[in-house]
Amino acid sequence: MDNKEIAHKFEEIAKLLELQGENPFKVNAYFNAARTIEALPEDLKHYFEENKLQTLKGIGKSIAEKIEELFRSGTIEMLETLKSETPPGLLEMLRIPGLGPKKILALYKHLHIATVKELEYACLENRLVLLDGFGQKTQEKIQHGITMLALYKDKHLLNEMYPLAHAIVQFLLKNSQLRDAAIAGSLRRYKELVKDIDIVVSTTQPAEIASYCLTCPYSTEIIEQGENICSFYAKGIRVDIKIVKTEQFASALMHFTGSKEHNVELRRIAKQRGYKINEYGIFKSEKPESVNSEEEFYAFFDMQYIPPELRENFGEVELAMEHNLPRLVSRDDVLGFLHVHSNWSDGIPSIEDMAKEAQRLGYHYIGIADHSKSAAYAGGLTEKRVAEQIKIIDELNAKLKHFTVLKGIEVDILKDGSIDLDDSILKELDFVIASVHSHFHMTEEEMTKRVLAALNNRYVDMIGHPTGRLLLGREPFKINMDAVIEETKKLGKVLELNANAHRLDIDWRNMHKFRGEDLLVSINPDAHHLDGITDMEYGIGIARKGWCQPANIINTLTAEQLLSFLKQRKK
Ligand SMILES: [Zn+2]
Ligand SMILES: [Zn+2]
Repeated sequence: MDNKEIAHKFEEIAKLLELQGENPFKVNAYFNAARTIEALPEDLKHYFEENKLQTLKGIGKSIAEKIEELFRSGTIEMLETLKSETPPGLLEMLRIPGLGPKKILALYKHLHIATVKELEYACLENRLVLLDGFGQKTQEKIQHGITMLALYKDKHLLNEMYPLAHAIVQFLLKNSQLRDAAIAGSLRRYKELVKDIDIVVSTTQPAEIASYCLTCPYSTEIIEQGENICSFYAKGIRVDIKIVKTEQFASALMHFTGSKEHNVELRRIAKQRGYKINEYGIFKSEKPESVNSEEEFYAFFDMQYIPPELRENFGEVELAMEHNLPRLVSRDDVLGFLHVHSNWSDGIPSIEDMAKEAQRLGYHYIGIADHSKSAAYAGGLTEKRVAEQIKIIDELNAKLKHFTVLKGIEVDILKDGSIDLDDSILKELDFVIASVHSHFHMTEEEMTKRVLAALNNRYVDMIGHPTGRLLLGREPFKINMDAVIEETKKLGKVLELNANAHRLDIDWRNMHKFRGEDLLVSINPDAHHLDGITDMEYGIGIARKGWCQPANIINTLTAEQLLSFLKQRKK
C-alpha cells in the first residue's frame, strides 16, 4: 500500500466524520494526517517499521495506532464502521465534484435527500435555492457536478491504469506456457481517460492460461472466466484478458487496439481487396492468411505500420496507404524537460535531488520552474528569492557532471494579463512559463485576451497548462485555443504539453489540428515529487497521439541547443 492510498483512507475518515457532524477539530486532525502522509517523500512504512510515526507532523497517538492497524491487518476498523453507519447514497454524493460533506449533511438534515437521484430531482424543483447556505449559484454548481459524475463514471487516469496494467502483464509473463502478452485497447492508444484494461495473450495451452489468470494477485472479484477470456476487477478497475492462439496474436492485438472507427476503415480496405478481417485473422477462404506481427498485418494490405496512438481514424489510414505517415517523436528522442517544482515553493525534493533523479532516469537536463509570489498558497517566490535561487543553481551546475539545470519560473498570469514578477528578474532566467492559477471564471473573450497579453510579454516563453483542466475534476476554462496557438506560432514561442496525468493539457486533438506545421511543443512533467518525472511517459504518448514529430518537440534539443534557442528568441 503506497502513501497515496493510505492518505486516501484518512481523507475518507475525515469526510465521513464530517458527514456525521463530528466536531471540526477531530475532522481536521484526519484531513491534516492525510495531507502529511501524501506529501511524505519516503514510504510511510519505514516510519511504521522504525516506530517513528509520531515524529511526523499532525500524527498523534490515536492516528499512529490506526496506521499501525492498517499495516498489520490491511484495514482500519474505524473506517469500516463509519462506512457501514453512513447511508450508501450519501457516500455516492461525496463523489460529486464540488460538493463537500458539510453541504451533503445539510441536504440530508433539511431536505431529507439521501441519494444522487433525489438530489438531481431536488435541483430540478429549485429546492436548493432557498436553503440556508445554498442559493441559485450553488444549485447550478451541484447540477453541473451531477452531470460530471455521470460523464466520468468508470473512467480512469493513465497514471492509475498503466502501472496496474504493466504489473498484471508482468505477472502473466511469469507463466512459461505464455507466448506473448500485450496491453491493448484505448490504454495502448494513450487516450487521456480509459475505462478498462484490455490485455491480449497468446498460448498453445489456453485452458491452463485461463486458470492461471484467475490467480492474479491484483484480482479482487472475478467477472467472467472461460477458455478465451478472463475478466476481473483489480483496484475497482475492470480487466479483460483475451486468450488467443499464437498464430492469432497479431490479428487479435490489432482488433482490440484500434478504435472502432479505425477498425471499420481497415475492414473496408480489406473488403475492397476481397478479404475479411477480424480478431482471428485475415481470410479469403476458410484458412487464415499467415501474419506474425502488426507490421505484417498492415503490410499485407500495402500499408505502412500505424503506431497505436494514431489509430483513431483521424486521417492515418489514408497516409499509411500512401506510405506518408509522419515519424513520431519517441521516448529515445527526449533528452530533458522543463517545469519541475522544488522545495523552494510547493515541491518536495530539493533542486539537487530532482536533478539527480532525472539523471538517474537517463535525462540530460531539467528546468526548475517554481511558483511566483502571487501563488502564496504554494510558497511562491519573490524577485529577491528568485535571484537567490539563480545563484544556487549556478553553483549546482558547476558541481554537476554531464547534466544541466536550467533556471526558470512558473509565473502567475494576473487577472488583467500582466505577470506578477518584474521584467528585471525575468530577464535573468533561462525560461519563463506563465500560467493561470486563479480567476478561472471569465468569458472566453476575456480569458483569451488575458492569456494573449501574457504571451506577449517578451520574457514569457510558454503558457503553462493552457486550459487549466483537471481530468475527472475540473472542466477546462473557456478560452480560444486556436487563437492562443496561432499567437504562439506567430511569436516563435512554445506550447506547453503538461504531462501530469491529471492535466495532459494541451489536448492532443489541438496538436493534431496543427500537425505538420512549425508548432513547437514542450513536454513538461510539472513534477512536485521525484515520482512525478514518470509522467513524462504519458506526455510523450499524448504528443505522439497529437502527431508530433521530433522537430515539434523542444525536449529533443540538447541543453546547449535549448539555451541558445531560448536566448536567441529574446534578442
Ligand atoms: Zn501551474
Ligand atoms: Zn507547475
